[in-house]
Amino acid sequence: MTASRVLVLNSGSSSVKYQLLDMADRSRLAVGLVERIGEETSRLVHEPLIGGGEKRELSGPIADHGAALRAVAAELAADGLGLDSPELAAVGHRVVHGGTRFTRPTVIDDEVLAEIRSLVPLAPLHNPANITGIEVARSLRGDLPQVAVFDTAFHSTMPESAARYALDAATAEKYAVRRYGFHGTSHAYVSRATAALLGKAPEEVNVIVLHLGNGASASAVRGGVCVDTSMGLTPLEGLVMGTRSGDLDPAVIFHLARVGGLSIDEIDALLNKKSGLLGLCGDNDMREILRRAGEGDASARLAFETYVHRLKKYIGAYSAVLGRVDAVVFTAGVGENAAAVREAAVDGLAELGLALDLEANAVRSPEPRLISTEYARVAVAVVPTDEELEIATQVYALVTA
Ligand code: AMP
Repeated sequence: MTASRVLVLNSGSSSVKYQLLDMADRSRLAVGLVERIGEETSRLVHEPLIGGGEKRELSGPIADHGAALRAVAAELAADGLGLDSPELAAVGHRVVHGGTRFTRPTVIDDEVLAEIRSLVPLAPLHNPANITGIEVARSLRGDLPQVAVFDTAFHSTMPESAARYALDAATAEKYAVRRYGFHGTSHAYVSRATAALLGKAPEEVNVIVLHLGNGASASAVRGGVCVDTSMGLTPLEGLVMGTRSGDLDPAVIFHLARVGGLSIDEIDALLNKKSGLLGLCGDNDMREILRRAGEGDASARLAFETYVHRLKKYIGAYSAVLGRVDAVVFTAGVGENAAAVREAAVDGLAELGLALDLEANAVRSPEPRLISTEYARVAVAVVPTDEELEIATQVYALVTA
């Protein structure tokens, strides 16, 4: 029996999401999440997808990531999917920031872990949680390959002209200030799946990927290689997001500090947690915004229009960056589900070769699908993202190479 299972862990500051996949047939064996780690009201939701087991929910305090992963291990074991199984080939860890050092999936040893730790200043909210997840998983199955898959890696191919800010070069170098990009596993997966949908090899197509979730980013992918993306040093730059501002004049920060008397930490929280759709209208869920806008709510309408305006600007910009565009593809929570956002984002872009089939756009489906008119020069598609499958695929390819 060859080991073909991969456990994918996505450790956040107070949560762990996990999936156990069998790469022999790319099937999911179990999925789940632990949330509110460190609080009294922690919750574990575990769902076995084989063997007819039931979805289970456990509540009660889970003190830390160690306790969380031990609880997950116990749930998996109860379904006969324990971490001690000889069928488990590797554990894959989503790591948010790989800096310029990590441009591909990497087997984690002490030196790699130290390097991931050295990148904490670039991702102070994310990398520490990722590191904790790695440490705990190593303590549970130190004999297994533990592999880090970086959110930044897919964007490491950006040319310097796209990756650099026009800052004093020595200062930028000293503080590692450049554009790294995020959501890389999603952009990689979706751009490849879009090529497949068009019946082409990834090398043959130029794609604009619009990953519109609670966080949102766009990327320009030429022949399977990322040449630009909208997030930068951190996941704050670019599109309007659920709670993040996206692009703004950096002088807004000086103004808020000098005139408003806000501290750096207050401005950080304002731009990351209280801006975007939430800041504009008080809601960050696109479903709620569409509902309110439909009832004539002016601030929800403005939030929607601001969101769409920014999206259009990036579609235009990346059409220029790519020169020839074969497909524009929507993915993630908003991109996969909000037909109104897709319609508004593409509306008026016939000069760029984009035209929607409104009937196809209105269909809800979990399948990758085309929503452009038959005669449009550029295909428009909806392709559900699958970051866990992409992480497992990259991990399995590495450990079986
Ligand atoms: P994600 O981060 O990819 O899980 O996306 C989460 C976001 O997707 C939510 O905050 C919602 O704004 C959005 N979303 C999910 N379902 C729908 C839907 N049916 N219509 C519009 N937006 C949706």
